[in-house]
Amino acid sequence: MSSVALGAFQVTLVRAGIHYWDGGVLFGVVPKTLWGRKAHADELNRIPLGFNCYVIQTDEHTILIETGCGDKPDRRMRERMRVPAVTPPLAEIVAEHGIDPEKIDLVLNTHLHWDHCGGNTLLTDGGVRPAFPRATYYTRRGEWEHAHERHPRDSVSYVDANYDPLVESGRMRLVEADFGPAPGIRMCLAAGHNRDMMVVTATSQGQTFCFLSDLVPTAAHLAPTWVAAFDLFPLESIANKQRWLEAAAEGNWVCGFGHDPEMAFARVTKRDGKFELA
Ligand SMILES: [Zn+2]
Repeated sequence: MSSVALGAFQVTLVRAGIHYWDGGVLFGVVPKTLWGRKAHADELNRIPLGFNCYVIQTDEHTILIETGCGDKPDRRMRERMRVPAVTPPLAEIVAEHGIDPEKIDLVLNTHLHWDHCGGNTLLTDGGVRPAFPRATYYTRRGEWEHAHERHPRDSVSYVDANYDPLVESGRMRLVEADFGPAPGIRMCLAAGHNRDMMVVTATSQGQTFCFLSDLVPTAAHLAPTWVAAFDLFPLESIANKQRWLEAAAEGNWVCGFGHDPEMAFARVTKRDGKFELA
C-alpha cells in the first residue's frame, strides 16, 4: 500500500526510482556479516535504495517532500548506480498515483544532496526551469550555505542547478529554524547526516506521519548506532535517531524512510530497549 489516510491528510509514497549504492557505505562501521542479513548486496556489493518522495494532500495544500535524483546525473553516474539512462520527470510519476502535479504548491527538501532535490528543476534548452511551477520550495538556510562552502568531503553531493535558480527567483525560501510551512506540517532540525538536515512531520486529528529522510534511510537502519559512513556527525545521528524513534514509537507515528527500496510506511515500536518495526 503506497497511500494512507491520517486524519484529514492523505499521504502517498511516490518513489522516483531505485538506485544501487555500496552497502558498506550505507552501514558505516557495521560489519557486513551483520548488515548482510538485512540488505542483499549485488556482485559489486551494492544494495538497492529508493529515491523516496512523499505527497501530503490536505484540504488546502498538495505538499511534495523531496524530488529524487532528477535529470542531472550523467551517463557514468547512472551506470554506476544502475539508474536507467532516461527517467520520467517526477511530475509524471506523481500523476501515475492519481495526484495532479499541477496542484503541488509546496516542495520541501530535507537537505540539498542531489538525491533529495534533483527533481526540483528541469534542464531545458532555454535553461533551468522549476519542475513544479506553482510551488514554493523550502529548505534550511544553513544547508544552502553549506552547499556553497564546497567542502572537499561532500561537495560532490551538491548540484547548484537543483536550487540556486529557485533561490534567485524567490521560489525557494531558506528557513532559519524549525518551521511550519502549512497547518499541521513541521520541518524540524535532526542533525547528524549533516549539520542542517531536517525531518518532516504531518499531524492531523492526532495522527502523525514522519518522514525520517536520511536520519533513518531504510528500515534496516532502526538501530541508532547503525549509521551510514556518509554522515558528517555520527554521534549526533545516534542521539537524534534515539530521540525521533522514541517519539515515533510513543506516538504510534506512521514513518517514511528516505531510501527504503520497498517499504512505503512503517510504525516503530521499542522492545527490550531496541527499536523494531511494529
Ligand atoms: Zn539521501
